Amino acid sequence: MLPEKRVARIVQDADGVLASDPLQSRNLFTKALAISPYDPDLWQKRAVAHTKLGYPDLAIGDAYRALLLVQELLEAHDESEFGFAGLVAWRGRRQQPRNTYATSDDTASSDDGHGEVEEETELDADSIPAISESEDKDLRDTDIAARRLICSSLLELGCLLDGLEQADAALKVYPEDNELKRIKEEADAKVSAGREKGLSDYQLREGQVARVIYPWNEFEPNRTSPVTVERMNEFVNVSSSGNLEVKVTELPMLVPDPEDEKKVITKKSIQLGVYAVKDLPANTQVFSERSILTVNNRLFDPLCDCCNGPLDPLNTLSCPDCDEVMFCSDQCKDEALEKYHPTLCGIGIDFLFKSAHSRHEVANDASATASTSNPTKALYSLLLLRTLAMALTQDVNPLEILPVKYLYGSSPPPPPPEKPPTLPFTFSDNILSVFHILTRLEVDPFKVSLHTFDIWHTLTIHSKILGTASARHNPTSGQPEVAALHLCYSIVNHDCEPCLMWECKSEMQFRTLREVKKGEEVRDCYTDPRIESWKKRREWLIGSLGGGCRCGRCIRESQADP
Ligand SMILES: [Zn+2]
Ligand SMILES: [Zn+2]
Ligand SMILES: [Zn+2]
Repeated sequence: MLPEKRVARIVQDADGVLASDPLQSRNLFTKALAISPYDPDLWQKRAVAHTKLGYPDLAIGDAYRALLLVQELLEAHDESEFGFAGLVAWRGRRQQPRNTYATSDDTASSDDGHGEVEEETELDADSIPAISESEDKDLRDTDIAARRLICSSLLELGCLLDGLEQADAALKVYPEDNELKRIKEEADAKVSAGREKGLSDYQLREGQVARVIYPWNEFEPNRTSPVTVERMNEFVNVSSSGNLEVKVTELPMLVPDPEDEKKVITKKSIQLGVYAVKDLPANTQVFSERSILTVNNRLFDPLCDCCNGPLDPLNTLSCPDCDEVMFCSDQCKDEALEKYHPTLCGIGIDFLFKSAHSRHEVANDASATASTSNPTKALYSLLLLRTLAMALTQDVNPLEILPVKYLYGSSPPPPPPEKPPTLPFTFSDNILSVFHILTRLEVDPFKVSLHTFDIWHTLTIHSKILGTASARHNPTSGQPEVAALHLCYSIVNHDCEPCLMWECKSEMQFRTLREVKKGEEVRDCYTDPRIESWKKRREWLIGSLGGGCRCGRCIRESQADP
């Protein structure tokens, strides 16, 4: 069957089930996009399906691509990168009869392409007709729909200032659009209310997204299944030299909103925990884990690009093809060249460190708006870059990369009426910057994304990074300078009264702070345990825990001083 006909048929099916089965509809649009990635309508339609499913984050990513492609198609005759292919595909699909099943040549054998479309490959930008007035109108309708959806989804997530700025930018192009005017009024009111409460610009940009596994994500292991626990124990046994083991455990269910706390106080969630296999004496190193999923911002002391360890100035190794990176040992150099560096060799990363507080004037200028929102987020974007580079270098799906596959990022949605925990989301960190990273890696952000780098992949990786990354701050400046992902470290649960303390140089290490008995769960503190106010600790921890801390110390202190 001709591709445009296949796409038209899939789209017809997807449109048909959008209201009754948005998940099936979303999966069909994804299938259509795999065949025809430069058709803006398909992205916009999938954005609507994502909205219906309750994933405004994914809707924004899709609508943003629709908006960029509309621009490409309008400029198809000016050598735009995707415009020509997009225009041919968009026209081809639209020229199919409205009911694609009603056509007579239904069987594959009669679809051998004799006739009008056969010459398609010979067309070039000069020989295809210019965009007609009605086509121009249809493309602009898609543009308007995409912009409305971006703005309303941003507001829904709480990215208020971005929602307002995008509405402003859209109204400059479509000043007469009443729906955009309505969205802008809503955004204006919400931003003003936030300002009155004393929220900073950064707080007004940061929204919250539900921390749930997308239903089509087949890569996520069942974390508490015997098979996964056994696999994790292989890793933990090595890193802890047999001191520690992983077991399934029950933790109190945490909720972001203190108001809801009383209702769920008795609810437990099934998680993993790390336990002492034998008595462990105080002040002893009980664990050491190496990772190559590390990043440093190269602004302070030079560090090994692979393991973040210190460099010996007399014995530093570098990449044979670029002078951007240095390694502490042959092991690190070999591993970098084998597992990730070839994809990154020669790619500048400075764009990830530019201040994000420049205004996002026009939504469709990715390069101008790609910088991340703060230094920690920049390190997290670098971790995403490293993960994608590992996937490309090793030719593996990024969600299959170790340790990414086993890192905790999100859970299946809880049964209603309970709300899932949330994760911070910003337009610049999660959408614009990611789009820019993909283009820098020479990944086609429309085409390849469907197989390995679709928006849900990068958002899933982001959730794992936010959930498990450790960041070390420079002692002089206080700025974060390194971040890393360590699987075994990430399984250790939090306590504001920890029995372990971690330290990360070239390896992640745990020392015992007191004697630990055989069978006891070992825990470390995800924030600084010296912070005395339980309210302050809770505020710092809410992002990484996904809710208010309910450890023994916090419960005790909150009861004594509510
Ligand atoms: Zn190293
Ligand atoms: Zn290099
Ligand atoms: Zn606590």
